[in-house]
Amino acid sequence: MSRLRAGSATDVGLVRAVNQDRLLVSEKLFAVADGMGGHAAGEVAARAAVDSLRTAVEGSSPPTAEWLAESVRMANESVWQDAQADPKLHGMGTTLTALAWIDHEGGDGVAVANVGDSRTYRMRDGQLEQLTVDHNLVAELVAEGHITEVEAETHPQRHAVTRALGVYPEVDVDVIKVEAINGDRFMLCSDGLSGEVPDSQIASVLRRFADPAEAARELVAAAREHGGSDNITVVVVDVATEESGAPGPEHEGCTSPPTGGLDPCAEADQAKEGKEQPPAATGAAVPASRRRWWKRRRAPQAAKLPRNRLVTLRVVGFMILLLAVAGAGVAGTVWYARSSYFVGLRGGHLTIFQGRPGGVLWIQPRVVQTTTLTAVSVEPYHLSALRSGVVESDLAQARSYVRRLRVEAVDAGIGVSPSPARTSTTAAGPS
Ligand code: MG
Repeated sequence: MSRLRAGSATDVGLVRAVNQDRLLVSEKLFAVADGMGGHAAGEVAARAAVDSLRTAVEGSSPPTAEWLAESVRMANESVWQDAQADPKLHGMGTTLTALAWIDHEGGDGVAVANVGDSRTYRMRDGQLEQLTVDHNLVAELVAEGHITEVEAETHPQRHAVTRALGVYPEVDVDVIKVEAINGDRFMLCSDGLSGEVPDSQIASVLRRFADPAEAARELVAAAREHGGSDNITVVVVDVATEESGAPGPEHEGCTSPPTGGLDPCAEADQAKEGKEQPPAATGAAVPASRRRWWKRRRAPQAAKLPRNRLVTLRVVGFMILLLAVAGAGVAGTVWYARSSYFVGLRGGHLTIFQGRPGGVLWIQPRVVQTTTLTAVSVEPYHLSALRSGVVESDLAQARSYVRRLRVEAVDAGIGVSPSPARTSTTAAGPS
């Protein structure tokens, strides 16, 4: 039978005035929450989430992964309700990563839940592995292949979370089940640690300090040494059999004792990650205070809509606008093409058309009336204009024009029929 031993530390950091992180350490449930929102709203959100989890675990049977997921959803609802009840708290939110000790396939295991960019790691055999997936913009851009991991390190929106508790009445919760064996060490933290201290240094500290509380304090100290630009919270949970006691820091491949603050595996870790120094050096391109400000002011807004939903809405909006413009263009063209009449020649007869001589785009003139007046019955000097089409403003003017030509023909002694013949309206061009 295994047992857990935990230690924790939290610190306001060197820049922020208030610590908006909250943590939970209980017998079988551990959590870190990183609140976001002005006027202390972030602190309220993180506290509400952690209090909700604490209440859930106090009244529960042994946790399961399903219980953990439901408890996080209840925490989301709790933060959401608080935000709706007080206008000053509107838009507040919090990240949350939680670890519950569960029965896993007949053995020991943990369930890990995550919403946001706080993280849970597992160290096994001296190797550190991030178990959670960050819900932030650059992580999604990397996953979708839009940017590389190297570009993500300096991306201006790398602290924009895309998922948080309390922003919506419902939330998607990532939950995984992981086997836990004697010697495993789990570490939960806010981005005040993971955003400041490289994984290689985090691993080094976790290997060097056997006591979980001391390891947590050392990690906080490391984050402060890197600038401490955000609140820093760490929970370290060790798995040990009752027979073996607390897990030791020794592991396969790195068996040197953790003495004198030296870590025999640190060099190997840095070589594995392919970089000499932590991201603090690359972070110099964007001042740390500015990065924190961006997250403090913008993260709740960024969490309101997932990026793919924003893109979809923009595409739909653009398509609607495009269709409206196209529709207006078609309507204007039809109106222009049908708004006038002209008199032309068709089959040797003077004919009244609705439309424009020659047509407009795909809209051909329509025959309104074929008269009995023929081309040989009008004065010859009219023929050139009639072949091109004599445009009139309306049907009455067009008929008036035909009557004038008929009168001229009679006066000139050219024989014409006394009345025009009417035809059905069809699409046809003048001949
Ligand atoms: Mg933070």
